Amino acid sequence: MKAQGDNYKCSFCGRDKSDALILIAGLEGHICEVCVEQAHEMIKDELGGGKKKSKSTQAFNLPENVTPIQIKNYLDHYIIGQSEAKRYLSVAVYNHYKRLNQKVVDDVEVEKSNILFVGQTGTGKTLLAKTIARFLDVPFAIVDATVFTEAGYVGEDVESMLSRLLQNCDFDVEAAEKGIVYIDEIDKIARKSDNPSITRDVSGEGVQQAMLKMLEGTEVNVPPQGGRKHPEQKMIKVNTKDILFICGGAFSKIERHIARRLNTQVIGFNNADNERIDQHELLEYVNHSDLKAYGLIPELIGRLPVLTYLKPLDKETLIRIMQEPKNALIKQYTKLFELEGIKLKFTKNALEYIADKALEFELGARGLRSICEAILTDAMFELPSQKGEVTEFVVNHDYAESKVSKSKLNKLKAA
Ligand code: ADP
Repeated sequence: MKAQGDNYKCSFCGRDKSDALILIAGLEGHICEVCVEQAHEMIKDELGGGKKKSKSTQAFNLPENVTPIQIKNYLDHYIIGQSEAKRYLSVAVYNHYKRLNQKVVDDVEVEKSNILFVGQTGTGKTLLAKTIARFLDVPFAIVDATVFTEAGYVGEDVESMLSRLLQNCDFDVEAAEKGIVYIDEIDKIARKSDNPSITRDVSGEGVQQAMLKMLEGTEVNVPPQGGRKHPEQKMIKVNTKDILFICGGAFSKIERHIARRLNTQVIGFNNADNERIDQHELLEYVNHSDLKAYGLIPELIGRLPVLTYLKPLDKETLIRIMQEPKNALIKQYTKLFELEGIKLKFTKNALEYIADKALEFELGARGLRSICEAILTDAMFELPSQKGEVTEFVVNHDYAESKVSKSKLNKLKAA
């Protein structure tokens, strides 16, 4: 609307159109992006206090009539590929929260469907867990299995993973009891040797043992600040029966166990079939007995009934990851440049180059950001001082290559 001719101003702060990035028109006036932000902060401050508590006071409900297919569709917005893992996760989460809402009317008690992801680093294991927690709007914590040791040894008690969950929801115990814990690097607590009796394995089998009850569901005394349990610390009681545990690990070289198992199964029947299985695709065939051979104890495996794998990311998938998810890297950089009034473009060759480099560094999609940073840092440093002079910035293969070869990134390869 043209209330003031072409001379638009923010009706709140008086800022001129030329000084504002965005001026939004209303019926009687305009508002600039700074005032929108400020108004948003004021609303948050005003309403924030009362909002927090509501989560736990309601019974947990899956978002209205949601189906596993809808859960997967949501995941598709953020995670590229990995459809098998998404399907398993959607079903497990759907069943888990159905079970929570089930009133016990008969003898059939639906067991908890804790999940185990097997897949190389940077393939999206943590991202899947994080995204599902956001979808459900439940408390979420990421913990690293390698910090835990058996009680009484240097390290943390396994109970401290619940401290993290409590901290993330402001110690709202009821909400935490319906939350999700992602335990990373579960493969690092595999039993070190086949003979458990020779030496004590305080950070391997001992930790696995300590986790059993918690994964299954029990009352745990949690030290609020994490770390070790001290008698003088006031403990918080948390029941883990409705907490969903998602474990993830790279299980490097587990393919060997899979190959061995498949081989023994196929021998004598149809060897040709065996040959058709690509080395890289072996992970698809992972099953619970491979995990046992890897060094997870059967009791732990039994408490992680949903087992699925994540594929290594290939070049095409990496290129899609850069462009397609809701908060894709290229979208983020484009936005940043847009704020400077510059149109950022990557040529197809440049994207392919970045994906090739990421494959070379073997960091999965995790490497993409560091590579993009290496390529764009100079531009992001210099361009803001040339405001108005540059309106378009194109990253092509040669530009990308020149920046990456000058950066410290190349040392990664040697490491
Ligand atoms: P890990 O498998 O080691 O847990 P993460 O989930 O932490 O890997 O992935 C690291 C980063 O890589 C994520 O933050 C995300 O940006 C990106 N990423 C990894 N895999 C995917 C994927 N399949 N789709 C989209 N982004 C991905």
